[in-house]
Amino acid sequence: MAKRDYYEVLGLSKGASADEIKKAYRKLAIQYHPDKNPGDKEAEEKFKEAAEAYDVLSDPQKKERYDRYGHAGMDGFGGGGGFGGFGGGGMSMEDIFSQFGNIFGGHFGGDFGGFGGGGNRGARVRKGSDLRVRVKVSLKDVANGVEKKLKVKRYVKCASCNGTGGEDKDSVAQCKQCGGSGVVNRVTQSIFGAMQMQSECPACQGQGTTITKKCSHCNGMGVVQEEEVISVKIPAGVAEGMSLSVKGKGNAVRNGVDGNLLVLVEEEPDNDLIRDENDLIYNALFSVPLLVNGGTVEIPAVDSKVKVKIDAGTQPGKVLRLKGKGLPSLNGYGNGDLLVNIGVYIPENLSKDERKVFDELSKSENMQPTESAKKSFLARFKNMFS
Ligand SMILES: [Zn+2]
Ligand SMILES: [Zn+2]
Repeated sequence: MAKRDYYEVLGLSKGASADEIKKAYRKLAIQYHPDKNPGDKEAEEKFKEAAEAYDVLSDPQKKERYDRYGHAGMDGFGGGGGFGGFGGGGMSMEDIFSQFGNIFGGHFGGDFGGFGGGGNRGARVRKGSDLRVRVKVSLKDVANGVEKKLKVKRYVKCASCNGTGGEDKDSVAQCKQCGGSGVVNRVTQSIFGAMQMQSECPACQGQGTTITKKCSHCNGMGVVQEEEVISVKIPAGVAEGMSLSVKGKGNAVRNGVDGNLLVLVEEEPDNDLIRDENDLIYNALFSVPLLVNGGTVEIPAVDSKVKVKIDAGTQPGKVLRLKGKGLPSLNGYGNGDLLVNIGVYIPENLSKDERKVFDELSKSENMQPTESAKKSFLARFKNMFS
């Protein structure tokens, strides 16, 4: 089934304000909340769908990309190999509940930011923090995709205690207060009425275990910081400001799952080519004789040179479009073009002989602009300013 448009999911049209997006999501979240529709798969799907739509449309960066590329812009990362991103079947319930704090205000922001749901979702899984790194990519990297090796300092499971935090197996015991789940239930008033909420067990800080003797290697943390080289595949077609998520390569946490590594793409400017989305622009400067007589020139493309024929009588300001010589799109649907902006070079210092040639030429009537050439030149600037 085709993925529904995010605006449609929220019952909005494109151009809806941040406030309208928030209101629409809030309404749907209440309507389809799993605690209000126990066991209703369809409601759960609707709930998830709305959460995913909100996640994208409430984030200015994601929204801009979605507005521009649609779902393709979001999915690109999923298929990129090794990226968690958005492609892999939307958001988990965990993600959704952690988002609630921002929408429904303080009450859900603390503790777990979640809803107990009568315990049917079981204990909450602790998640290590995400790490962020920047990666510089050249135009060539953008064109071909690239594998980057990134040095990352991250917390990993302590090998000495196997992540338990205890010196030996006798120094780790199940927490008596929460029975090992790491959470305690309490009833609270919310916009949905009285609800059972879970919060972190105060006795074990959500760990589920208590330690009598701490591991000497990690001081009971269960994790130690290490430097790791992580190989990240950057798909072709990425752009400045996009971020890729590498699942499980963030920080580890005791008795929990590893966070993610978020890789922020930074584009290095190219010496010759200017990027305009998937098109490339080359501002070319040619000599007067070349534009007059025509000839073949070499134009720099991303990682090669392209031979281009310049017709005799080519006017400066003309733009040649070299189809498919631009950058690939992130979703793999075709390439952009290479646009060659033609400019003319007028020499400033001429030898006596050269000046004589131009003097001779200036006597020829053919050198004077025709009426139609003047008109089309004028029209071009009119278009530019209108
Ligand atoms: Zn340890
Ligand atoms: Zn506990």
